[in-house]
Amino acid sequence: MTALLEVEDLRVAYGKIEAVKGISFTVEAGQAVTLIGTNGAGKTTTLRTLSGLLKPLAGKITFDGEPLGGVPAHKIVERGLAHSPEGRRLFPRLTIAENLQLGAFLRKDTAGIDADIHRVYDLFPILGERRKQASGTLSGGEQQMLAMGRALMSRPKLLMLDEPSMGLSPIMMQKIMETIRELRSQGTTILLVEQNAQAALSLADQGHVMEIGRIVLSGSGYRLLHDESVRKAYLGED
Ligand code: ATP
Repeated sequence: MTALLEVEDLRVAYGKIEAVKGISFTVEAGQAVTLIGTNGAGKTTTLRTLSGLLKPLAGKITFDGEPLGGVPAHKIVERGLAHSPEGRRLFPRLTIAENLQLGAFLRKDTAGIDADIHRVYDLFPILGERRKQASGTLSGGEQQMLAMGRALMSRPKLLMLDEPSMGLSPIMMQKIMETIRELRSQGTTILLVEQNAQAALSLADQGHVMEIGRIVLSGSGYRLLHDESVRKAYLGED
């Protein structure tokens, strides 16, 4: 079986600074895969490159059997790869409902769009209750839910989530992680970038540890969660 996403020897630089130094990994359809690692490891850079927002120096990206190299960002969304970015990037003056509509900007099936908006409200009832509220006035956790909901509105084959737990209270973080788990069990394929290694590895089928632009360790979520070096470096254990 070929993977839904195949990344081979990907290198990305900002000017002379190489932020991603040749990484390879795959995401199989139906799996949740996580990239973990400390600040500056190159996780966000990797997702932004997969989305077509950054141009790689070298390497090969294959998505759903086709190369992604040189494909513009909006075409990548059309091909089924959605990105819920770090810092959320919502339209603060627009309501929840309007932000969700924008997530479906490539679609024309009005009935399907309405059904999917309701699916997002089922997933996150608070968004349904506040559908007419400007997104800029939502709490951090609610904004995160909306960012995920908006990414889902393109009906992606692969949903990429960049640090969904960032800045959230423990309870809110738990809720977001439960939802990611639920999406995964409904068959959504997920690539999750997280600094919260414990939470990410607990739900991931596969994990990769990144350090200064390289993948230094890979394994099942369970294996990495119980790996001594991971526990020491990323789970705060002595
Ligand atoms: P974080 O969790 O802090 O977002 P990360 O693993 O996602 O970390 P990146 O944001 O991908 O890491 O950053 C990787 C490296 O690239 C860092 O050294 C960072 O300073 C550098 N970098 C990121 N964005 C830029 C930019 N726009 N210009 C120059 N250097 C950048």
